[in-house]
Amino acid sequence: MNMNENTISGPATSEEAMDLENRHGAHNYHPLPVVLDRGEGVHVWDIEGKMYFDFLSAYSAVNQGHCHPSIVSAMQKQTGKLTLTSRAFYASNLGKYEQFITEFFGYDKVLPMNTGAEAVETAIKIARKWAYDVKKVPANAAKIITCTENFHGRTTTIVSFSTDNDATGGFGPYTPGFEVIPYNDLEALREAVADPNVAGFLVEPIQGEAGVNVPHDDYIREAHAICKEANVLLMADEVQTGIARTGSLLATCGNCSCSGSCERQPSFVKADLLILGKALSGGAYPVSAVLADDAVMSVIQPGQHGSTFGGNPVAAEVAIAALSVVRDEDLALNARTLGQKFRTGIEEIAKESNLIKLVRGRGLLNAVIINDSPESTTAWDLCVSMKDNGLLAKPTHGNIIRFAPPLVITETQLEECLAIIRKTFVEHGK
Ligand SMILES: *Cc1c(COP(=O)(O)O)cnc(C)c1O
Repeated sequence: MNMNENTISGPATSEEAMDLENRHGAHNYHPLPVVLDRGEGVHVWDIEGKMYFDFLSAYSAVNQGHCHPSIVSAMQKQTGKLTLTSRAFYASNLGKYEQFITEFFGYDKVLPMNTGAEAVETAIKIARKWAYDVKKVPANAAKIITCTENFHGRTTTIVSFSTDNDATGGFGPYTPGFEVIPYNDLEALREAVADPNVAGFLVEPIQGEAGVNVPHDDYIREAHAICKEANVLLMADEVQTGIARTGSLLATCGNCSCSGSCERQPSFVKADLLILGKALSGGAYPVSAVLADDAVMSVIQPGQHGSTFGGNPVAAEVAIAALSVVRDEDLALNARTLGQKFRTGIEEIAKESNLIKLVRGRGLLNAVIINDSPESTTAWDLCVSMKDNGLLAKPTHGNIIRFAPPLVITETQLEECLAIIRKTFVEHGK
């Protein structure tokens, strides 16, 4: 037996693979019936070798395309050198990464973590600590404002303020200290932050999981102003919207298509706590981060927060490579231009198919609202048919289909994809 190789052979067919997962894995997901085996750029292949366009991009983690050569190469190089030290010691490339990412996004400091949920938890802890140390909120009274239909991850604290019953139901008792207000409602925010115990306002600039819920243009900017006036931290969860997905480096950058050290446009909002994940690694590795300036980040002292894997040497190299791809390939501009084309293309299809009620989104984070009830299987059936026709997308909230291809997609590929979508919707009649 060759001990250098994994000698357990995998399933030979998609049927076998699905059967194995169903028998041995917890049923905490309901996947589309397709078994992916390989990926490159905008494409993925199943076990049988059928090729698909990936229009989910692992919930926007794979913005740079599957297995981007420079990300893979950075990862391979580092895994042969040093993979983990823990933060008990300094690591030779962590400071380099920290300098890179803070300059890239324009903050004093970064706190590195692994998953999106961990980064959100981190931001919550920083906001609470800041409330007690700086804002002088009485002990254990700090409050964080969140929004209806939010999605910030799956930990017990985070699901405590979810308004989705599948996410919260049966998982109590819930963590106190959170208040939910309607999304896209500045009046509600104004009232909520009048409470002097409010530490932060945790918000997605566009609600991805809720079905690409886009607030009005000035929402985040005005929310920021309201927070500032009330001495409340704006905590922007850009785990899904960030890193060029919505046509700018961050969704809070408004229309700016630069990649970092930009001339900030008037619409630019600099969140007090910026939460990143997903595409921070281009999908190669779990890498997340919280960015803040010293006035906020300095409330965290040794021993108060940490993670064995957070900021590990592989994550550091992968994230530098992943962000460099975004900048060097100007993915924000591509997302902005092709996103516009996508929505125009869907509007054309809507003239032929009354299954399409609405298309909405920004950049290449878009959703099509299906003209049927959320309880119907229409969106799911359409996704299964699109899969058969060579394009992978997933329904969310029953009757909404999210379309979010890797940002490396070309105009020609996008046209091919619109043809697949058109064909599928027309086949489904009406
Ligand atoms: C995906 C997501 C998270 C959670 O990230 P995980 O890596 O799955 O823990 C948090 N916030 C938003 C907005 C997300 O889309």
